[in-house]
Amino acid sequence: MSPTIEKRFDIGCNFCGKINDGTHMFVAGLYGYICSPCITLCVNTLALVADGSVSPHPLKDEKN
Ligand SMILES: [Zn+2]
Repeated sequence: MSPTIEKRFDIGCNFCGKINDGTHMFVAGLYGYICSPCITLCVNTLALVADGSVSPHPLKDEKN
């Protein structure tokens, strides 16, 4: 699946809730969108994990 860059103004980021006001790009996924500031945050976070600055925490299973 290749990402799609959306220019629509009736969408919002499913991570932070930011509404598209035309100042940021949004990337579409199968079930929602992510804004460019959240993408930057994710890239920076993954870089910290990659260089060992922080350790990833596995998500806990709510059922157990
Ligand atoms: Zn966002």
